[in-house]
Amino acid sequence: MSETTETIFSKIIRREIPANIVYEDDLALAFKDIQPQAPVHILVIPKKPIAKLDEAESQDQGLLGHLLLTAKRVAQEAGLQNGYRIVINTDPDGGQTVYHLHLHILGGRQMEWPPG
Ligand code: AMP
Repeated sequence: MSETTETIFSKIIRREIPANIVYEDDLALAFKDIQPQAPVHILVIPKKPIAKLDEAESQDQGLLGHLLLTAKRVAQEAGLQNGYRIVINTDPDGGQTVYHLHLHILGGRQMEWPPG
């Protein structure tokens, strides 16, 4: 699966379905995950519908950097001074279920390694 012209995240961007949005700017949106895997679980997505990391291109370099800096900002605003984890699941082996690129911010508990 690699196409993402339309996903549930596109509907969240367009405000067609509700989400608990914690940050927005021209390029990115951050909202709470509907099935949190940690006390803090927030998704950061580009407004541009890139299906997955594999489909990002060199022209997206600035956008990818912006998403990481947005994740840092959102994590700080969520009070994760003790640390957090950023995850990008890609394709079936990576556990990706929504084909619109997203960064998971996970925090508020001790993370384990290796991940499952
Ligand atoms: P992934 O498995 O990496 O593709 O992550 C997709 C994430 O999107 C999962 O953690 C889901 O819980 C989350 N998710 C799916 N639908 C929604 C929604 N409507 N609002 C918030 N998070 C969602």
